Amino acid sequence: MKFSEVIGQNNIKERLRQMVKESRIPHAMLFAGTEGTGGLPLALAFAQYIMCNNRTDNDACGNCPSCKKVEKLIHPDLHFVFPIVNPGDGKAAVSEHFLSQWRNALISNPYLTLNQWIEFIASENKQASIFEAESSRILEKVVYKSFESQYKILIIWLAEKMNIHCANKLLKVIEEPPRDTLFLLIAEDTHNMLPTILSRCQQIYLPPIDIVSLREAVDARTQINESKVNNILRMAKGSYVKAMQLIEKSEDEERWFNAFVQLMREGYKANIAGLMDWASEMSGIGREKQKQFLLYSLQLLRENFALTIAGKNVAYLADHEMNFSKNFHPYVTEKNIELLTDQLEKAIFQIERNGNAKIIFLDVALQVSKAIRIK
Ligand SMILES: [Zn+2]
Repeated sequence: MKFSEVIGQNNIKERLRQMVKESRIPHAMLFAGTEGTGGLPLALAFAQYIMCNNRTDNDACGNCPSCKKVEKLIHPDLHFVFPIVNPGDGKAAVSEHFLSQWRNALISNPYLTLNQWIEFIASENKQASIFEAESSRILEKVVYKSFESQYKILIIWLAEKMNIHCANKLLKVIEEPPRDTLFLLIAEDTHNMLPTILSRCQQIYLPPIDIVSLREAVDARTQINESKVNNILRMAKGSYVKAMQLIEKSEDEERWFNAFVQLMREGYKANIAGLMDWASEMSGIGREKQKQFLLYSLQLLRENFALTIAGKNVAYLADHEMNFSKNFHPYVTEKNIELLTDQLEKAIFQIERNGNAKIIFLDVALQVSKAIRIK
């Protein structure tokens, strides 16, 4: 990862480059910042910059053998420690066991969150920690001479997840640092860390990402309109992670609206081929999204029924939903509202119990088509 790929944080990048230029790199550093501000990407970019054989004043080259290895996270002098779930089976609870998943997760998303990471490695929601066994591996890694680079670099992601035994052993290493070894710690919450570790590290505080950089990063990832993006930037409070979550939610809602409109149009026309296409598309989007769509549709139907009953806009509808509902709501009446909502609720129940999505959605399509044509 190059500095240019890290979103914003220009002052910190400049500080890090300065340290390299002046050959004054502290042997232990802590990047402290809330989720989504970029601690891990910054540490990665810093490591790559230090190890690059051909760096410029501003950035790593991205092309030398060293850069290539750092980008694939396979540089022999670059080590990682990160929270894991206890693997059980008598295996030592150390990061190494999860290294291939770690590379995949981090390469596809350098702004990885702890929740995403746990989902990646555990089938259920388990507690993740940096266990005591890790500390002896850390010691092994730092005693050897570096292979290819001047420095060995150890990146410790979410150092606050270190258990107390591990933290105490790490402290001893940091107090008597082995030659040419750099410790780059990343933390989102330093309150639970040993004060002695904090005082041994040069601390770098990451502010929220500036709005201009965040907007650029968001614009590169989405087509949603400017007013929605403005809202999202305001709510994200400088967190790239939060911004991406809000974008995904917004994109999903747009998708659910379009799928709802399509269902009602094809249903009203009783177009069997169209309804089958719709059902087949919906059956491929995954259970969680299917449930979200069904819940969204229930909500929109109820709002339309409210419009029919009250005869005016009492509902909480966005502009595009209101435009559609103006003409659609007369078709949602006391004669069919129960049929329609029962059908959707039944589908949610079946989806939650791992029913066959193709059959469930075809049934939804056909029953909704019948119900929406009731005069
Ligand atoms: Zn390079």
